Amino acid sequence: MSARVLNGKILASKVKDSLKSEVEKLKKEFNKVPKMVNIVIGQDHGTCAYAKSQEKVAEYIGINYELKTIPADVRQEKLEDLVCALNNDAGVNGIMIHKPVPDQINYNLVANHIDIIKDLEGINIANIGKMVLGETKIVPCTPASIMEHIKSTGVNLRGKEAVIVGSSSIVGKPLCLLLLREFATVTVCHIGTSEAGKLEGHVKNADILIVAVGIASLIKGDMIKKGAIVIDVGINRSENGIVGDVEYDSAKEKASYITPVPGGVGPVTVVMLMKNAIEAFKAQL
Ligand code: NDP
Repeated sequence: MSARVLNGKILASKVKDSLKSEVEKLKKEFNKVPKMVNIVIGQDHGTCAYAKSQEKVAEYIGINYELKTIPADVRQEKLEDLVCALNNDAGVNGIMIHKPVPDQINYNLVANHIDIIKDLEGINIANIGKMVLGETKIVPCTPASIMEHIKSTGVNLRGKEAVIVGSSSIVGKPLCLLLLREFATVTVCHIGTSEAGKLEGHVKNADILIVAVGIASLIKGDMIKKGAIVIDVGINRSENGIVGDVEYDSAKEKASYITPVPGGVGPVTVVMLMKNAIEAFKAQL
């Protein structure tokens, strides 16, 4: 058996189309469209490329996208002032701060200055709390993309064993909450799991396996349960180009569904940002 490939580009394009028609309806009804601002500190080639791709998606959907580039040596207070000005600007519905930020900037502190109804990435501490309680529609974009992929398989998560490898604040931890909402039984593995030699034992148990670590081929096919759904979030540069955290060829022989890298989780992540921009806009109407 060879797994079915969860093509992120196709999924992204379906979600984009449905968001586009939602924005058209909102425009007809309220005569305005969502506007988002991405604050980029300094400029490097990677950031520009990513921002360009966001801009293209926003334009397609009908969202007004502004890229605010500020100097790399900006001071914390100045950045916080900018965020506050955007909070007070009724024409701006959503704000994000592009990562990474320079060393002099405390990212979490700035994030907490973003108005909770304009917080496009769900990074404000209040939104994180609301997510724990299941009270917000703004969900961090990568976990949201992972959930879209899982749901696209049609699987009923209730009672399934979901194993997440990687427990970061932007992927593993919020994803755990989203899976719990669907009544999956969730196990979260991290460096301590590997150090204890228990990673393989947990992975073997997974009906749904999500890997977000940043180590190429950490998970091999022989560690995966037959028929598992495998979502590979990792992005690693190798001599063969960009690869994931899962050894694709061997995993494909065991899984029922698998995301490729590149072209899996990534393309849907940017669309989830736009979904959040629309949710923020609706909350402000
Ligand atoms: P972090 O470095 O913040 O977190 C990595 C996690 O993996 C940590 O929980 C760490 O544990 C754990 N870990 C490290 N080594 C091992 C190991 N040997 N066994 C088990 N767990 C281990 O990374 P991110 O969450 O930011 O990103 C993870 C990967 O996903 C990266 O490759 C990144 O590029 C990619 N990514 C892709 C996105 C997309 O849209 N496609 C978006 C975001 C990230 P501990 O904390 O205990 O050290």
